[in-house]
Amino acid sequence: MAFNLTRRKFLQTATLAAASVPLSKVVSASTGVTKSALDTPGTAGDQTVVGGICEMCFWRCQLVGKVRDGRLMKLEGNPKSIDNGTAICARGNAGVKLLYDVDRLKYPMKNVGKRGAPKWKRISWKEALDECGSKLKNTVDQYGAQGICVFPHGASAKYPMHYFERAVGTHNVSEASFFQCRGIRDTAYVATIGKAPGEKIDMPNTKVLFFIGDHLGENIHVSHIKQYIQGLQNGAKLIVADPRFSASAAKADIWVQIKPGTDTAYMLAIMNYLVQNDKYDKEFVEDHTDGFEQFAESIKEWTLEKAAKECDIPAAQIKEVAEMLAANAPNVAIHPGRHVSWHGNDFQRERALACLTGILGAYYVKGGWVPAKGPKVGGVSWKKEDHGHKYDLNYDHHEDEKVYPYNPPGTPTDLIRDCAISGKPYPIKSCVVWGQNPMQTIPNQQMMKDLFNAMDFVMCVDVMPTDVTAWADILLPEASYLERYDYIKTGTQWDLSKEHQQYISARMPLVPPMFERKDQIYITNEIAKRMGHEAKIPVKTMEEMVDKNLATVNLSIEKLKAEDGIHIQPGKDPYGIPEEFEVRLFNEDIADTGHPGAPTYIPVPDNPKGFARLLYGRAPVHTFNRSQNNVWLHNAMPDNPVWVNDEVAAKIGLIDGDTVGFVNSEGVESATTTTVKVTAGIRKDCVYMYHGFGSANPLMTIGVGAGVDDTSLITKLAVDPETGCHGMRNNFVKLIKNGKVLDIPA
Ligand code: SF4
Repeated sequence: MAFNLTRRKFLQTATLAAASVPLSKVVSASTGVTKSALDTPGTAGDQTVVGGICEMCFWRCQLVGKVRDGRLMKLEGNPKSIDNGTAICARGNAGVKLLYDVDRLKYPMKNVGKRGAPKWKRISWKEALDECGSKLKNTVDQYGAQGICVFPHGASAKYPMHYFERAVGTHNVSEASFFQCRGIRDTAYVATIGKAPGEKIDMPNTKVLFFIGDHLGENIHVSHIKQYIQGLQNGAKLIVADPRFSASAAKADIWVQIKPGTDTAYMLAIMNYLVQNDKYDKEFVEDHTDGFEQFAESIKEWTLEKAAKECDIPAAQIKEVAEMLAANAPNVAIHPGRHVSWHGNDFQRERALACLTGILGAYYVKGGWVPAKGPKVGGVSWKKEDHGHKYDLNYDHHEDEKVYPYNPPGTPTDLIRDCAISGKPYPIKSCVVWGQNPMQTIPNQQMMKDLFNAMDFVMCVDVMPTDVTAWADILLPEASYLERYDYIKTGTQWDLSKEHQQYISARMPLVPPMFERKDQIYITNEIAKRMGHEAKIPVKTMEEMVDKNLATVNLSIEKLKAEDGIHIQPGKDPYGIPEEFEVRLFNEDIADTGHPGAPTYIPVPDNPKGFARLLYGRAPVHTFNRSQNNVWLHNAMPDNPVWVNDEVAAKIGLIDGDTVGFVNSEGVESATTTTVKVTAGIRKDCVYMYHGFGSANPLMTIGVGAGVDDTSLITKLAVDPETGCHGMRNNFVKLIKNGKVLDIPA
C-alpha cells in the first residue's frame, strides 16, 4: 500500500474528527473528565478522561483518554490499574485510529445491489430498524425461532446474543471465540478439573514455563506479557514446543521443533515417563485425582522412542523436558493455550495438558495453575427461558443425547451451516452477524457464501466494513468501545504473590459517538419492540445496565468516575488447594459418550505429496482481520509474509522478498499475493503466516488486498469429535511464483 494513501487518510481522519465533534458534547462532567490528577508529562493541555477499557483485543486493558478540543488525542494505560498499569500495546494505542477511521460505518445502510456485490443506500434508523424487525419477525412467524441464526463476537454482542437465545428462543448461535478458538480448551478443562482454565498460570513465580504452540511476544496481552517477562527475569526455565522458531522459542531453554498435530503423543510420552520412573507427585495424585490406574495403563504404550518417531524429535529431548518438569514440580506453569482449534484432535490435547499439570501437582501452588480470586459483579441481561431441545441441532433425538457431548456454549458452526444450506432438518432463513467476521474466521468461505445465499434476510452490525458486511441486506453502524458504556472488568493485581487486591471497573465513553452510530442496547431493544418482545426488555440504556451491575457491589458509574475509573479493594490469597478439587485423569463420563476416557493421541492427516502444511498465528501489532484497516498498524505491518524453510526455498528457487500466491490441496487459489520470508526457523513440511490479512472488501481502503487471507485457503474441515469445534491446520498448500505452481519437496 502506497505511503501517500495512508498519509492522505491520516490527514482526512484528523480533519474529520476535529470538525465533527462539538466541544460541549465531549468535555462535560458526564464523560468522566477529571481535572489533573492523572495528567502525565507530555500531555499538557489535554484533559484526562477515565473509564476506558480497550477492546482492540479481548484482554481489555484499562485506559485513560487524552482529549483536546473534543478530540481523542492519545490512549494510555490507567495509572491506577493494578493489571496493565500504564502500559498498553501497539494495538491499544492504535485504537485512536480505529475511532477516526474514515472508512468506519457511519449511517444505517441498505444493500440495493446483490449480496457479496453490494450497492449501499443510506437509510434512516427508523427504516433500518423497521426492516430488521419485520424481516426477523416474519422468519419467526413462518419458520419458528430456530429459523434465525446468529454469529456474535465481542462485548457488545452479548446483549443481542442473549436476546436471540433467551427471548426469541433460537439455539442457532455460534461464537467464533468458542468454535474456532478457545471452546475446546474450556470444555476439556471443565471435563478434567471442573473449571475453564483461562490463562491462569502463575508465571512470575514459576520455576518452569511450558508452552505448546503458545507464542507469547507475538501474541500480546499486556498483563500476561508482564507476568511472562517477570517469570523469565526471576530465572524461570522456558520450554517451547513449536514447529516454528517463534518469539517464545527464541527465548527458550529447550525448543522442541515438533511435527504439527503430534503434541498429544509428546505429552503422553512425558507423562508415561514420569509415571514409569516414579517422578510424579504421588501425594497429589492420591489426594486430588481420580482414575490414575486406568490413566497409567492407557498411556503406557507411549515410550520415549515411540513418541520420538511420531513427533519427529529426539527421544533424549523428551526425557530432558520430563526431567526438567519433575525436578521443578510442583512450581511449573503449563500454559492451557488460547486459540486451540488446530487439528480436530484438540480436546484430547487439552485434556493431556490438564492431566500433566495434575500429575505434577501443579494446581493452586506458587508458579502453577492458580485462579485469581477476583470480585463477583452481577450481570443484568435478558431473562433465561427454557426453549427445550426440540430444535437444538446438537441434540440427537433418536439417541436422546448430544451429538457433540462437550460442545462449548452455543451450537457447533457446521451444524448450523449445514442446516441453513440444506434446509434439513428445518429451514434457517435469517442471519444476524454482530461484531463477527465469519468470512475470515470460519473455515470454508464457499460454505459461508452458500449460507448467506440461502437466507431471506441478513443483517450485520459492526464498527467497520469487513468481508462479511458485504453480504448484508441491512448494515448498522455501531458505537466503538471508546464511545459507549459497556463491559464490567474485574480482576486482581497482576502478580499473585504481591499484596492481594481486587479491582472493579466499567467501560465508559472517552468521547461520544459521531455520525449516527448507536450502541447495542438501543439497536437490540428497538428490534425487540418490533418483534413483539417489548415487555421483556431488561434495561432501557447502557448506562442503566452498567449501573445495575455495579449496584450489586455497592458501586455506580458516578462513584467509579470519582475513583478515577477503577475501584480497588482488599483481595484474597489465591494459593492453597480447595479440599474438593479433583483432576479426572480418567473420566468415565467421557468414556460413556464413546470417546477416550484418558487423554489419547489421534493422528492427523499427513501432507499430500508436494504440499506444505499451512500454519497461521497472531501478529503482535494486529488483531486478526479486525485491525487490517488501521493506518498505524498497517504501517507497522502492511502484510503477512509467508515463512518458508531455507533449504526448501533453495530447492524450489525462492528468495527472501519474492512475491507468491497459494493453491491448496483442494485447488482453491489465494485471491492475492504476499512476500516470502526465507528462514531456518520453520520445519520443512510447513509454511506459516500471520492470520487476518487480505481483506476482499474495497470499502476498507487500506486493508483491502493487503497480504493473503489464510482463511480463504482453509477449506478442509476437521471437526473435533467431542466438542464440534473446528480444527483448521489440516490444510495444505503449494506456492505460486510468476504463475508457476511450485511443489514443496518432501
Ligand atoms: S493487550 Fe493491547 S489490544 Fe489487548 S486490550 Fe490490552 S492494550 Fe488493548
